[in-house]
Amino acid sequence: MTGPGASAFNEVVALAARRGFFWPSSRDLYSDAPAGFWVYGPLGLRVKNKIIDMWRRRILAREGAQEIETPSVLPLKVFEASGHLEHFFDRLVECGRCHSRLRADKLLEEATGSQISLEGLSDEELHDLLVGRGVRCPVCGASEWTGIRRFNLMFTLAVGAEAESPNAALRPETTQGSVVEFKRTFTVSRGKLPFVMAQVGRVYRNEISPRRALLRMREFQQLEVHVFFDPEDTSAYESKLAEFSGYRLRFLRGEDRETGEITEMTVEEALSSGYTVNPLITYWLALYQRFFEELGFPRDRLRYRELLEGEKAHYALVHWDLEVYTEDLGWVELVNNAYRTDYDLSGHSRVSGVDLSVDTPRGKVLPHLYEPSIGIDRVILHLLLLSYRRDERRVWLALPRELAPYDVAVFPLVKKDGLPERAVEVARRLSREFAVFYDDKGSIGKRYRRMDEVGTPACVTVDHRTLEDSTVTIRDRDTMEQVRVPEERLADSLRRFLSGADLREA
Ligand SMILES: [Zn+2]
Repeated sequence: MTGPGASAFNEVVALAARRGFFWPSSRDLYSDAPAGFWVYGPLGLRVKNKIIDMWRRRILAREGAQEIETPSVLPLKVFEASGHLEHFFDRLVECGRCHSRLRADKLLEEATGSQISLEGLSDEELHDLLVGRGVRCPVCGASEWTGIRRFNLMFTLAVGAEAESPNAALRPETTQGSVVEFKRTFTVSRGKLPFVMAQVGRVYRNEISPRRALLRMREFQQLEVHVFFDPEDTSAYESKLAEFSGYRLRFLRGEDRETGEITEMTVEEALSSGYTVNPLITYWLALYQRFFEELGFPRDRLRYRELLEGEKAHYALVHWDLEVYTEDLGWVELVNNAYRTDYDLSGHSRVSGVDLSVDTPRGKVLPHLYEPSIGIDRVILHLLLLSYRRDERRVWLALPRELAPYDVAVFPLVKKDGLPERAVEVARRLSREFAVFYDDKGSIGKRYRRMDEVGTPACVTVDHRTLEDSTVTIRDRDTMEQVRVPEERLADSLRRFLSGADLREA
């Protein structure tokens, strides 16, 4: 049996396209369609919706978050205030021979295998490093490079018939919508600080080299929480932290970047040492690490990577990426956790002229912002990678049962003798409560394999004995073990099985 192995990535992406999780947009008809845009098929969308649903129940509901939905198109002034016009760029270098345009930092990282940040270097320093190290063009092999050029990653738009130049842009993050609408949302919700907002939304970045399927996309989806708070008063979170007493956070600290050594700290240690700044940030770091464990990510594959000066986003005071490890992709960021201070609200106050401070017991306060931002597409890609299993007989996805696209499949053993009619009836009853897939085509073995491949946790089969004694079999995806249960107990058994019980106890 293979776990998440070195060749899993290509197999998982192929499986995803073949079975309907995700595939590249428009390519079936138009082979030259731009890269970095992906379709969610019926199965992928089910998984995505389940994760969003779990996030709403386990994070937003318990934290009393006010979720809003803002447009993808925002006026350029918003991005002037947010700093994206000035700071949101990649540095391009052009090959002197074949004129390929490539990211200077990625070229250097790949050529030197370096874990050290290059983002703090000036344009000249980057260029000199490329030349000095003799970095070669991956396309043609030349090592002549022209000067560095800055390339803004936002898609700009000219909105309206009169517009002659760009006056708006597709948002590169949902944050700005929440910041711009903060004051009204705060007022209509009768809010007080700390005030938690949230958004689910698509965002757009004109990536220079989209790659690795859902890893680097030009249109992707964020689940963002925006915690507005008074930096002088985070006491509300001191008592909330008690829930995480003794819980161990995993960090790759800035000074351990070279060795890769992970430091485990209890929430108490993280807070009292000052490393996680205040109780509010400490709480959210613990909440998100635990949420990812609940999503099925093993704790020893998770870490918070502290970003260094020059690597942090332009708005962040402290910044950790929650990363996951796979053999295929190494450590990859899933959640961007940034303490943005009052950077955003003060920028919008300055550019708009509108006072965005709010009344508190301490008087007027311009709130600070802490933001954990999930890139859900990467989460889905990694869930599939970590679930992928293969042995000599079959391929299966050992997805967490509650995140599988279908809860249960229902089959008649053969397509005759009244079995399909009985099975359709069983499927119809179960579909009131479960996501059910019914199939009566082909051999029973192939039907099981097909469900294993998409991660369906349970298969229910109606056979000739069902007609005699009203029992059916339930088969476990992971063990292929089968048990017989009376039809009238089927829903109860499935409910217990899907919430984690062993099949024999379900
Ligand atoms: Zn070249």
